[in-house]
Amino acid sequence: MSALIEKCVAIDGPCGSGKSSIAKVVAERLGALYVDTGAMFRAIGYFCFKNKIPFSEGDSLSSCIADLKLVYRKGDNSSGVYIEIGGEDLTDVIREHYVSELASKISKLQTVRDFLLMFQRAIAQHSLCVMEGRDIGTVVFPHSFCKIFLTAKDSVRANRRLLQLKEKGDCTVTFETVLADVKDRDERDMNRAVAPLKQASDAILLDSSDMSKDDVVEKIIDLVKESSCKNRLKI
Ligand code: C5P
Repeated sequence: MSALIEKCVAIDGPCGSGKSSIAKVVAERLGALYVDTGAMFRAIGYFCFKNKIPFSEGDSLSSCIADLKLVYRKGDNSSGVYIEIGGEDLTDVIREHYVSELASKISKLQTVRDFLLMFQRAIAQHSLCVMEGRDIGTVVFPHSFCKIFLTAKDSVRANRRLLQLKEKGDCTVTFETVLADVKDRDERDMNRAVAPLKQASDAILLDSSDMSKDDVVEKIIDLVKESSCKNRLKI
């Protein structure tokens, strides 16, 4: 076994691919910590927006990030995430539709990504993690023992996002708006210069378009077990 193998399950993929709900259940089944890295970009995007910090590199952003008191831990809510900045609980507000856009815009900035890279690596030092995002298998844990790239057709992903928003009581959004937003965000995530969304060369591609959530969870658990045996890791 290579000493470099990292004990973190890395799940990447575009928005609406089901990463969050699936990674959460996989983590529960493995007794691991579920880490939603999108929630961190959402929290920082919201915080900068609220405090009128420009979404561009410069002194304002640098000092904001240098002083940032970000807390991430397991939440008792349906998302399984609790997140705060500077003592303010941002758990619910980051799920608002407009915050997706803020997260996507802030996530292209190197200063923000450098900060979160360290933050995410530090979290995984203490326990087994199932971490989901866009660059976990490529940048954050390039030596993860088990990498999954989860995707689904655009229309399926947009429908899933729409359902999530409706369940939260947001009845203002339409399928067309959500589909356009999903495509826009994917475009930005895939084409940014820093840590773009892409499948790691050693990640397993899983298309969940025609799979139930339970089937995807079982498939990932099987893959984790196979990879841990292969790498002689105790999970
Ligand atoms: O996963 P979620 O949709 O909550 O992520 C919000 C945004 O945060 C994404 O559209 C992406 O721009 C950014 N993100 C990222 N890298 C990650 C996780 C999220 O750039 N690892």
